Amino acid sequence: MTGVYSLLPEGHHGLLAPLGGGEDIDGYLAVGGYAPLAAPDRLLDRIAATGLRGRGGAGFPAAVKLRAVRDAPGPRVVVANGEEGEPGSVKDRWLLRHRPHVVLDGLRLAAAMTGAERGFVYLSDDRAEQAVRQALTESAPEVRIDVVRTQHTYVAGEETAVVRAVDGGPALPTAKPPRPFESGVGGAPTLVANVETLARVAVMYSRPDEADSVAGAHLVTLSGSGAAGAALAEVPAGTHLKVLADLCGHGTATAVVLGGMFGGLYGEGWTDLPLDHDRLKEAGGALGCGALHFLRPEDCPVGVAVEATAYLAAQSARQCGVCVSGTGALAATLTAAARGEAGHDSVDKLRRWSQQLPGRGACGLLDAAARIVGSLLAHFPDRIDAHRRSACPACEGAAPEDGRRFTVPVP
Ligand code: SF4
Repeated sequence: MTGVYSLLPEGHHGLLAPLGGGEDIDGYLAVGGYAPLAAPDRLLDRIAATGLRGRGGAGFPAAVKLRAVRDAPGPRVVVANGEEGEPGSVKDRWLLRHRPHVVLDGLRLAAAMTGAERGFVYLSDDRAEQAVRQALTESAPEVRIDVVRTQHTYVAGEETAVVRAVDGGPALPTAKPPRPFESGVGGAPTLVANVETLARVAVMYSRPDEADSVAGAHLVTLSGSGAAGAALAEVPAGTHLKVLADLCGHGTATAVVLGGMFGGLYGEGWTDLPLDHDRLKEAGGALGCGALHFLRPEDCPVGVAVEATAYLAAQSARQCGVCVSGTGALAATLTAAARGEAGHDSVDKLRRWSQQLPGRGACGLLDAAARIVGSLLAHFPDRIDAHRRSACPACEGAAPEDGRRFTVPVP
């Protein structure tokens, strides 16, 4: 059971339920949606002033991406990226299913700001597709917008995979450069923007007085093992992770996996961490897409890391030699170490690889696997040692190593 919550201050307009539940075109128009955009540069300046960061995972400044496409020679393309491959994140599917108009509104505003003549909504979820197609029949965006369906995989939402899939190819990342803003769909400069980012742009435009709080707020997907629930929540920037754990019934958690699997594990001290890109980075983690998975005292972080790296190795698109060998070696060596079957130098190898491999693949999958392993070694060295010495009671009979523990139903 997944609950939906808003922790925004009273009176603030969030993304989760501002229209009393659903979203139809009349309700959306009544709150100022699809208002004509007379001064695109002024909106772009407002976005820059708020510091809005992309919500797909990398946290790149939205205004920088918008300006890069605007300043490139046309024709240009904009893509709303609703394919969230990170395990444990459901915010983008929820938005597309329940608030398609606010996403489409953000997309047409992005088209106006960049001068794009063509738009796409890229997704893999059935119900999201139905909602978006219905919303397109109700609205009349100034640019042509098509829906592109993809497979749900870890890498399908990476921006170069998005471009490739929209062009009719496989949803697999390509080497960078060029980045999509240089050469994207059909070779045109292309903005690939996460659907939450676009939705925030739309709300910022209709509620200029709330622009700062809209830019700072986050949609987060919260989950954990055991009987306690999962939650989709909208929270102000800087909310402490302990507050979020309490919200979904995991207040006794002893550790957290950050950013789906992308941001690594965090042990002692996690309760003091705020939801903030820079603070989490300073702490050695990453906020990523804002999905947080809490571990109970009886959960073993080694078992969770084994499951995560095995899942990532299976999800490797097997294009980059360093990823095929690196992610595979991280997963296999960690699994062997967890079973007490690895050589005496296995921990040293894992530590070295976790430092050397990030940034060497075409996408973030290899980085995610390296961060999971590196953070496990940093935060739970004693648990690794214990695993190497004898069988772990918490891991015996645990769930299969397929990433299923991170699955959250879309509310
Ligand atoms: S890093 Fe791995 S998953 Fe990413 S593109 Fe290369 S082979 Fe594929």
